[in-house]
Amino acid sequence: MIERIFTPSRSKDDVEFDNALRPKSFDEFIGQEDLKSNLSVFIESAKIRSESLDHILLFGPPGLGKTTLAYIIAHELNVDIKITSGPILDKPADLAGILTNLKKGDILFIDEIHRMNRTVEEYLYPAMENFLLDIMIDNGPGAKSVRIPLQPFTLIGATTRTGLLSSPMRSRFGYTSRLNFYNERDILEIIRRSAKILDAKYKDDGLAEIAKRSRGTPRIANRLLKRVRDYAIVKGKGIIDHEIAIHALEKLKIDKEGLDDLDREILLTIIKKYNGGPVGLKTIAASIGEEQSTIEDVYEPYLLMKGFIKRTPRGREVTALAYEHLKIKNINNKKQEEMF
Ligand code: ADP
Repeated sequence: MIERIFTPSRSKDDVEFDNALRPKSFDEFIGQEDLKSNLSVFIESAKIRSESLDHILLFGPPGLGKTTLAYIIAHELNVDIKITSGPILDKPADLAGILTNLKKGDILFIDEIHRMNRTVEEYLYPAMENFLLDIMIDNGPGAKSVRIPLQPFTLIGATTRTGLLSSPMRSRFGYTSRLNFYNERDILEIIRRSAKILDAKYKDDGLAEIAKRSRGTPRIANRLLKRVRDYAIVKGKGIIDHEIAIHALEKLKIDKEGLDDLDREILLTIIKKYNGGPVGLKTIAASIGEEQSTIEDVYEPYLLMKGFIKRTPRGREVTALAYEHLKIKNINNKKQEEMF
């Protein structure tokens, strides 16, 4: 099976790699300037008031730095952080175990918070609002509710889209912010820093080529950097230069716009099977045998940002730019032209 470069989930290798390259402070965290400056103010204010920071919700496609920001916030506040994720918090007892162990001001980071089950979510509401946990002991007629006070803590939730969260959950966050794709200049700075940490030899034009094809996503940029370095060591002169970067990226099937096989398959499916669209996401997902959520969270945001597809009330449509990029004649356009 071919390993996809843009897989949404992290491999074990990724987790170690992510940790090694993760910026530790706001100074090392490149880009997202508005978000950083807002967070700095809220952190400073919480410190002055000696109170816990308000709960924060971060959303955006995977790999843009949500987990990294949670670590940085903990570091700036000088508190401990506990990392978990929605699907892992399966039972209320799991949540209770974590919450009762948090110390004053600590951070609880819940990744993929939209995937938490409803029962657990309902236990979280009073915990977020009043730092209280209402636990049911026993079932049936003997059941009692016990109220456990918690230390004030800060919940940082991460999700790919805010629309996936229930509105009671959303409304309990004091600050919600979206992380945007990074521009090429910021990505270049990120991988230059990573190359230095990895002790990889490089030329700026080599890194620039990687940055151009990293779809504005630091995790992908770091991953590509590692792969291109392998090519440089084995097939090149040990230096990440422009030539070896192009060679490696072509071998990895990542084109000049940063699209991979699956991106192209999505566009080609809409063009060839559905006449350019509009077609529903569910149908596209079924046609190419991929999870709908993967397309929606990982692939579609970049294709939309690049202007290769557009959303219409009746589904997704490819644009003239996509035909041009894939070097396919747009017969629909031709038909239209002939009509006039
Ligand atoms: P998310 O939680 O949004 O999926 P992460 O915080 O795990 O993303 O980031 C993935 C990797 O990308 C991290 O290891 C980190 O090294 C890198 N990264 C993310 N954002 C930045 C940034 N702004 N500056 C430098 N590196 C970053």
